[in-house]
Amino acid sequence: MSGCIFCKIVNGQIPSKIVHRDDLVTAFRDINAQAPTHILVVPNQHIRGADEISAEHGQVVAAMFMVATRLAESEGVGASGYRLVFNVGPNAGQSVFHLHLHLLGGRHLAWPPG
Ligand code: 5GP
Ligand code: ZN
Repeated sequence: MSGCIFCKIVNGQIPSKIVHRDDLVTAFRDINAQAPTHILVVPNQHIRGADEISAEHGQVVAAMFMVATRLAESEGVGASGYRLVFNVGPNAGQSVFHLHLHLLGGRHLAWPPG
């Protein structure tokens, strides 16, 4: 989608620290990391957010989770634990309207979040 910052990262128009890429999913380091490991896992296709997911997205959403958990292992946070987060809408602070799964780890993560 033109004007979408994460579409531009997926297609290489905007540089980022990409840690995984396949036919369905791209993962890259968050530019404003909130934890020692903070990676964003996004579908290569533009989906506005978690509130737009439907049955047709089953394969790509499953791929997002599998990539995230695999990256957690390769980042060395699999055993210590990590958090997977979708922010949806204003109260959750969603700021980019291209579906993205946050992978956060490497420090204690308070619950409930602020
Ligand atoms: P949200 O608040 O929408 O759940 O998360 C958006 C995330 O995208 C934020 O954590 C923000 O730091 C990250 N972000 C925004 N713009 C860029 C960018 O251009 N590059 C990278 N790598 N991350 C970005
Ligand atoms: Zn997009």
